[in-house]
This record gives sequence, structure tokens and C-alpha cells, in this order.
Amino acid sequence: MSRPSRAIINLAALRHNYQLAKSRNPGGLAMAVIKANGYGHGLLTVANGLGEADAFAVASMDEAIILREAGIAQKILLLAGVCAAAELSLVDRYRLDIVVHCAEQVSMLESFRVQDPLNVWLKINTGMNRLGIAIADVVSLHARLTACQAVAIPLVLMTHFANADDRRDKYLQTQRQAFKQVTASLSGIKSIANSAATLFIEDDLGDWIRPGIMLYGASPFINSIGSDDGLKPVMTLESALIGIRQQVTGDPVGYGGAWVCPQDMLVGVVAIGYGDGYPWHAKAGTPVMVNGQVAKLVGRVSMDMITVDLTNIKKPKLGDKVILWGGSDKSGILPIEEVASSAGTISYELLCQVTARVKFKTSD
Ligand SMILES: *Cc1c(COP(=O)(O)O)cnc(C)c1O
Repeated sequence: MSRPSRAIINLAALRHNYQLAKSRNPGGLAMAVIKANGYGHGLLTVANGLGEADAFAVASMDEAIILREAGIAQKILLLAGVCAAAELSLVDRYRLDIVVHCAEQVSMLESFRVQDPLNVWLKINTGMNRLGIAIADVVSLHARLTACQAVAIPLVLMTHFANADDRRDKYLQTQRQAFKQVTASLSGIKSIANSAATLFIEDDLGDWIRPGIMLYGASPFINSIGSDDGLKPVMTLESALIGIRQQVTGDPVGYGGAWVCPQDMLVGVVAIGYGDGYPWHAKAGTPVMVNGQVAKLVGRVSMDMITVDLTNIKKPKLGDKVILWGGSDKSGILPIEEVASSAGTISYELLCQVTARVKFKTSD
């Protein structure tokens, strides 16, 4: 038996979500963030599916080179810039945009000679405290970059929000204010918004938005699902029922006998497990869609299988389609956010960790 586990990537949904992001910032540009293999959807699948994207952002040189060599012509931004001066020749050869987030990277550029200056995104730390130039150093580093032969004008001034996923959190406003203040007297175009900020901020999203998770149809907000903001799931993780058995009250199900049947019931076995990237931490009760109806996970997640309570499923039979997350209006939608919260994680992680043995297909 070949494994029935599959990830279907819906390119129409991807384009819908990109256009939705773009519509939040009329007149502005939108960079599709496709790091981590396109949030697990496939780097080239996403890049080719989003031919209309204004630009792409990735986390590593390897990803950028794959895109260029596949003929992707748009602007590509390296979100962490370069680690060593030697990498600048690759940046030049592949015509990449780079983030500059520290003084060392400014020095590297100052000693680099190039025919066509490079596009630089100056990352300012306004409170995330991960990567970024300290507020106190912004003016001097901005001046050095502006004077640097290897750097194109205008610079892009950017920052990244730490708490935008919580609509009630005030820290976003603190960071926005800090960004406004420090950039008020500086030349450059601006980029501040990830997905959450793109959906939350109502005015002045700047020249470039940088949506990631929303492109894939998952909500960037805590306690929300993508459809709350009009997003459509791009990945559907699906498999099939490969076993059905009648159990009686008190029967333990799965490893460790950690779960015990509270009544006589039909239990189904689905060909999906942590070997496919389904989270081991998913608790009993995690929703699983069988034949378009919602069933509940019972027992521990195994490497290749999970077990589900089929009590409320009409006439289940072997081979029936099971959706672990995603879906469409036609099949019904199982929000990945519900699976994530039931597994103590976030949709980002679930999407990124689908394993290589799952067959990926695209649909339109
Ligand atoms: C990953 C990333 C994004 C996209 O974030 P989402 O929450 O997925 O929208 C935007 N900007 C930067 C700098 C990032 O690293």
C-alpha cells in the first residue's frame, strides 16, 4: 500500500490571500515572505504560483539562489542579510536585496566594490530585540550607508513588530511610534508590516508590506482563524481511513493505553502520524475531518497513524477521505489554528514541519 497522505497546495487560494494583503495597502507594494520553504508549502511552488508578487523574502542565501536559478525575476530580499563579506559577491551576482541589521554589515559594504549598487533594507530595532540597529545608532549608520559606494539610494527603512498577533496589545503602537520618530528626519522608503500588522493597521502601512503567514491562509492573530479575515487555506493535509474497529467501554486505544473508551464505540485508524508532520502533542479531542464531518482524535499520535472516534460519522468505510487541516468550501474547512492550539503550537510550525514522505500536489 502506498501511503495516502498528501498535501494539496491550492494556488488560487494563495493568490486570493496575496491580493487580500495587497488590498490592505492601496498604492503600496507587497513582498511575499516565502522563507522556510514557503512556510512548508514548497519554495518554488509558492514563488511560481505568485507570479504577480512584487517581491519575495527569504531567510537564506540558498533559498535566494534556488529562486534565481529557477528564473524568478522579482526582487528577492535576504531577511538576515549576510554573515560574511565574501557573501556580498553572491548578493551582487544574483542581484539580491539585503537587510542590514548591525554595524558589522555596514563595514562589510564599505569595503565592497560593485558596479551596480545593492539595495539595502536598514533594519531598526524598535523593541523586538532580536535583529536590528539600536535607535541610538540609526542616524550614524544611515549616514554611512548613504555615503557608501556599494549601496543604492533610497534605502528602505524597516522594522519588525513583536506583539502584532495580539490585537489588544499596545506594544505595537510603542514600536510604531519609535519607528516614526527615528525615521522622521531620514531619507528612505518604509516597511513595517508583517501579516498581523497588515491586517490590523488601518493607516500608513508604508511603501512595502511583508505578509507571510496570511498568504498561506492562516490567521496571524491569537484566538482567530483565517476565515475571520477572509483568508483561504492554501495547504490541505489529507489522508485516508485504513482501519475501523468496534471497541467496548474500558478498551485502551494506542500506545501507553493513555486513552480509554468511555463507551462502546467505533474507532477509526487514519494513515497520518508524526512521521508525516502531524503533531505528536495533539491532544484527545483534536478535530479531524472524516468525509466532511468532524471527528475527534483519541489516543496518542503514532509515527504512521492516528486513531479517531467515529461515533458521529455517518457510515464510515475504509478509504474514506480524512482532512487533518485545510480543505475548501466544497470539502469543508478544518482550520489549522484549531489543530495547532489543541497541540500546544502555532499554525506556522505545523505548516513548516510536514515531512518529505507526504506527497505534495498543486490544485487551482
Ligand atoms: C517572517 C517575517 C515576516 C512575515 O511574518 P508573518 O507573521 O508570517 O506575516 C515579515 N517580516 C520579517 C522581517 C520576517 O522575518
